[in-house]
Amino acid sequence: MQKKPSENVKAEWLDDEDDVPFGDPPRMYNYKCKNCGFMSDINEAHIDVAYAWTKKRTTCQDGEVVPVLECPDCGKIAFVCAD
Ligand SMILES: [Zn+2]
Repeated sequence: MQKKPSENVKAEWLDDEDDVPFGDPPRMYNYKCKNCGFMSDINEAHIDVAYAWTKKRTTCQDGEVVPVLECPDCGKIAFVCAD
């Protein structure tokens, strides 16, 4: 997994359209909000960046530990992996 310098974290997060990784296509994580039920696919690059600047963690069904994100719909920190 590609690691980015910490000073670029915010820019990468906001500018994801230009974040084209080398090689394999990014994995998509199916996220669902525990508060409002909003669902969305989250790019692996977002997961990687969010992991560095968030503290809450959740676990996918395959056991991978991923960050809990802020729901784009209701704004609660309740957006978890639903895979
Ligand atoms: Zn929500």
